[in-house]
Amino acid sequence: MRVKPESKFLTDLAINLPSPLEQISLPDSAAKGVEVWCKRDDLIHPIISGNKWRKLQQTLASWYSCPPSHVISFGGPYSNHLHALAFCCAQLEITFTAIVRGKYLQNQVLSPTLQDICHWQGQLHFVNKTDYQRRTEPAYIDELKNFLQADICIPEGGSQSAALQGVAEIHKEVSYQQPELMFDFAFLPVASGASLAGLVNKHQATSINAFIGVAVLKGESYLEELVEQFLGQEQHTQWHIEHEYHHGGYAKTSADLLAFCEHYNAKNSLQIEPVYSGKCFWAANDMIKTGKIRPGSRVLLLHTGGLQGNRAYKRINVSK
Ligand SMILES: *Cc1c(COP(=O)(O)O)cnc(C)c1O
Repeated sequence: MRVKPESKFLTDLAINLPSPLEQISLPDSAAKGVEVWCKRDDLIHPIISGNKWRKLQQTLASWYSCPPSHVISFGGPYSNHLHALAFCCAQLEITFTAIVRGKYLQNQVLSPTLQDICHWQGQLHFVNKTDYQRRTEPAYIDELKNFLQADICIPEGGSQSAALQGVAEIHKEVSYQQPELMFDFAFLPVASGASLAGLVNKHQATSINAFIGVAVLKGESYLEELVEQFLGQEQHTQWHIEHEYHHGGYAKTSADLLAFCEHYNAKNSLQIEPVYSGKCFWAANDMIKTGKIRPGSRVLLLHTGGLQGNRAYKRINVSK
């Protein structure tokens, strides 16, 4: 079931679709004669992280007419997914519990992300690393659902097969917004692989020739497996994952990457952060600079959002 943009649901949540598609530049793009565009999913909503909106869209639409009573989901203390889902549940008046990875935070200050979740009346349930590792086991999920009296569990990152179709909406929007343009490559950050799988899963026309996923964590071959699991036997668009740009691993960074983001943010109204978009923009720029992306190419960067997580670096603030 497709949600029409004019539906009450999207109006109620103040969702801005289609997200803007605009031409931008990277530090080395002009000198190399590469045309760069950005799909601004960071502008879908001031609070709901764009990529997480895409992945949750179908599920949330079904809840709008038939809401569950209590939803649980998994994530770390800076999770864009928990943040987005907690906000949506609050708007839809659904009870939400975040299952958070980490020791019980007695006497410790909550992350800004978790503070927001509390502010929206979401509950926090901390589990240790060993238990957290069981987050995809059906028996563990049932145990948690029984214990918390929840009826729905959404996987970490919102990465379930229902997420793929929501992500694929990007194709329709791009073709509608720039019907004349063909893109040689589209770049996006990859963590669970669901977004990449949704984009390359080919059920419709696309103006994007090939996808380059930028691994934001150390996951060579593991990430490819995840994407393939989502894709199954489906026919798909050409894709591969670059593994040279994670800067040490998930949520790890380097002085160079931080400087790249800071420099970019000082010069542009479009903002990036070092966990997802920064690594993606860096990778695109590096591949342009080193000629892996040939002069004369046209590339699309998918800005997946996630700026709320940046508050961990104490540089921006997202208003409530
Ligand atoms: C979760 C997230 C991703 C990763 O998406 P996957 O579908 O897990 O690969 C990318 N960017 C942002 C901003 C995210 O929050």
